Formats: sequence, structure tokens, C-alpha cells
Amino acid sequence: MPLRLYNTLTQELEEFRPMRDNTVRMYTCGPTVYNYVHIGNLRTFTFQDILRRWLRYRGFELDHVMNITDVEDKIIANAAKQGKTLEEYTEVFTKAYFEDATALRLQRPEQIAKATDHIGEMVQAIEKLSEKGCTYTSDGSTYFRISTFPEYGKLSHNDFSGIRSGARVDMDEYEKADARDFVLWKGRKNEEPYWHTPLGDGRPGWHIECSAMAMKYLGETLDIHAGGIDLAFPHHENEIAQSESITGRPFARFWIHSEHLLIESQKMSKSLGNFYTLRDLLAKGYSPESVRYLLASVPHRKKLNFTFDGLNAANASIERLRNVESRLKAEKLETGIDETNRQQTAEALRRYEESLDDDLNTAEALGVVFEFVRDVNSALDEGRFREENRAGALKVLAAFDQIFDVLRPSHESHELDDAGVERYIEERAAAKKARDFARADEIRALLHDKGIVIEDTREGIRWKRK
Ligand SMILES: [Zn+2]
Repeated sequence: MPLRLYNTLTQELEEFRPMRDNTVRMYTCGPTVYNYVHIGNLRTFTFQDILRRWLRYRGFELDHVMNITDVEDKIIANAAKQGKTLEEYTEVFTKAYFEDATALRLQRPEQIAKATDHIGEMVQAIEKLSEKGCTYTSDGSTYFRISTFPEYGKLSHNDFSGIRSGARVDMDEYEKADARDFVLWKGRKNEEPYWHTPLGDGRPGWHIECSAMAMKYLGETLDIHAGGIDLAFPHHENEIAQSESITGRPFARFWIHSEHLLIESQKMSKSLGNFYTLRDLLAKGYSPESVRYLLASVPHRKKLNFTFDGLNAANASIERLRNVESRLKAEKLETGIDETNRQQTAEALRRYEESLDDDLNTAEALGVVFEFVRDVNSALDEGRFREENRAGALKVLAAFDQIFDVLRPSHESHELDDAGVERYIEERAAAKKARDFARADEIRALLHDKGIVIEDTREGIRWKRK
């Protein structure tokens, strides 16, 4: 059976293969580095990692570009509050993102593109749109006129035909009800950072960033564009309008989106106090492998209910897999082959691959693996398992770990080192400055759990270990 992926654009499961040669040209929207990424974001990045790994398992080469959004509304507001330049502000969170990605074993995309390194490309893209008559300016800003793109709405499957032409929206993020002409270039405002360009002094809007960078590195038509479902509208819809207006060709063949993450069946939010970063979970003593396993265990098109019971269960599942692997490696076995087990092994590998070929059905793939583990354990217990069964069984586990990547224990300490404490203290100070007192209290409690006492003194913040 060929690999099939659900395409948001056509709303159908479609057979996937790259358009040219054997290389998959893929673009994914990366982190907006205004804060530490939360586990909802990490669900999306983990899904993209599973997708990457499965494409490779199936023998495709990858050219995967991920952007880093290091200029947009929230970043500018936060940097200004802290009296920092954009670069000073975003550097910390960019570094933190890659630390989290490494802990979660996310493979690094072939190319990482920072928005602020591509202002020239964005300006050129906007100029091309202007030549095609898709833009207008107002108060020093340039807008995309969505009435020039009749297919607007084709990705999010919304009918926007009735919207009023000429009404504008300046924010980077907005709701469906606010679908209006969106901003491509924001004219310079007060003290905000700006670039001096032929479009005037200002800065790019968020949406043009991805169109310009994706086409620079991957060409006019991508094989896959992926992201979280919350990006489908307006961000991806706007990317399509911009890119297709410039080239007259389809921007991406497959649009793949991952669903939301819930915490204990509730929406994650700072006000509910159920907002977690990876650092929070590691500080509570969970391993990065458990987090990765839990995030990967639910197929990307289903909502994922993240619970602490689920994390504990993930941990137990990983233990079970590690145990069977060490038994398989260490036990002395009689020579020969057990035919039943040989068949079970071949069947397990076939069904495992079929599950992932079916729109990356990770839940079903895990079901197959655990059924197999049960069979192996009982064959070993009953002395039926033979020397010539060993390699095949280990191959199933290797196929599992090539995608899920949790068998190798992480030797990183989960204790907070001094730098880790300092990072939390910095984050708490930033939260207080931003009047996010819930987060500030949460960090104090979290540090307290780790035996760290912080004192706000006139000279600044002091901390010590109990
Ligand atoms: Zn994007």
C-alpha cells in the first residue's frame, strides 16, 4: 500500500509522492520566538518530526525548511517592555527552542530560515504583488487586496465572497470574522524597530515572511506545507493568496495540519494554570522521552488530551519496550527458528508499516508493536523463542525506534542546574514585567518544588537551594 496523507486543501486522503525526483520539498512554520514554546507547539513540532522520519523510512530524500519568526507583534511588544533590541530579545528564546527540540529528539530541518535575515526577499515579493495589482498602500503600510484572489478561502473552506473590499486588518493574528485585506508591510510606527526599504521605513507582516522564504529555498510549488491547525486561517490562507498571486501556480500540493492539544480535557491557558513548557515537565521529573512518546502517540489529526496519567503511562510503555529489547539482546537462546514467532514478526512489521502509511496512524502502529512485544515475551517465557528469531524481532523494535525514538535513555540530568534556575528567574522577571502574575507565581511554585527559594530584595532577586 502506498503512503497516504490527508490533505486539508482537498479534504481527502491522497497518495503521496514528491513531484520531482525523489526529494520531498517541505516547509513547516517554525516557532515564534517571543517566549518558551509550550507543549501545544511541541505537539505540532513532534508531528512534523514523525512525518519527516516516516518520509525517510519510505526512502525519500528531504529538503525541509523551517522558519524562525523573530519579528512580529508580540515580539516587538515584549522586547520594548524589557528595553531590549529584537535580536537581544529573540536570541534567548531561539536558543531555548533548539534546546527543547534536542531534548525531544526532533531532527533538525535541512534549512533554518530566520525572518530578519530575509527582509530583502520579502520586499521583493511585495513588489511583485504590487506589479500584479494585488496591493494598495495606506498610511505608509502596504496591504494585500483579497478581492484580487477569487480563490481566497480554499484552504480553510470558508466563503469570503461577501466581505467588504477595502476594509483592512493590521494585526498578524486574527479570527475568521476579521477576514479583511491583510497587511504585507507595516509602516514605521513610533519607537518600533524598522527597516529602510523601497517600500518605505517599516517591517514585514507575518504572512509574507513564509511565502518569501519558502519560495526562495524550495521553488514555486512545495510538496508539503505543514503546521498546526490554528495556522490554517489566516496564516496559511494568506500564504496561498500571496504566493499564488505572484507565480500563478499552486503553492503547495499537500497541506497537512495537526490538531489541538488539551490538558486534562481543558484548553491550555495561562489563566487556568495549566500552561506547560517542556522545561516545566522536566522540572517535575518527567523524562523527555515520556513527553515525546505521549505527544507522538495520538495521530496528528486527532485532538490530543495531555494528562499526567498519560505521561506516567508513557513512561511505563517505554520501560516495557526497553525491557523486551534488553531481553532480546541478552538472553541465551537455543539454536533454530520458531515458525510461529517468525510469522508473527513478519506480520508485525507489515502491519506497523501499513499503519504509518495510513496517514501516520501512530496509535495503530503502537498497538501493533505492543501486541508483538506480548508475543515475544511469552515466547521467551515459554522457551519457544530461538536464536534465529532474534534478528527479526530486533528489527521490528528498530523500525519502531526509527520513528518514535524513545528506546535510548536520555542521560541528561533532570535536576535544575544553576543556569536552569537563572533562566526561570529571568522568565519570572519578564512575566512580572508583562503583568503575567499567574505565570510568575507558577514559576515561583515550580522552583519551590525543586528546593529553590527566591527572594525579591532591593538589590534584585536572590536565590538559594534549601
Ligand atoms: Zn508560516
